[in-house]
Amino acid sequence: MSELKYCQGPDCHTYNTQDRIKGQKGNKTYQTRRRSSFYYGNGNFCDMRCQNDWFSKYGTQAVNHFGRLTEAKHLTEENAWVKDWNYPDHGNDRNYYYLNKITQEQRPLTQEQYDDNNYTLNER
Ligand SMILES: [Zn+2]
Repeated sequence: MSELKYCQGPDCHTYNTQDRIKGQKGNKTYQTRRRSSFYYGNGNFCDMRCQNDWFSKYGTQAVNHFGRLTEAKHLTEENAWVKDWNYPDHGNDRNYYYLNKITQEQRPLTQEQYDDNNYTLNER
């Protein structure tokens, strides 16, 4: 049996839907949704409303905790590489490539490089 987890929406239990009513007969309450997986917010929220509730309540704290931008970031040739793919003119296999958004230069990628979140041409 897969492990169930709770929606992280701070007000999830306050939304009156049938699936949130849980408990023994005569002692039923609306409860936070619990599922094996969720589709919103990296699998942490049951729906967009709960995700937005969380951000409204904790978003500013989270930004301050993980680092608030205090100056503009700049897109330059050195950090303008983005991964992309297309279909070749003839064929069904995807073409993976790196595209530099400044110079428009393209460099081929393997699917493994495309899927690898740590692989980058950008300077860090
Ligand atoms: Zn929820």
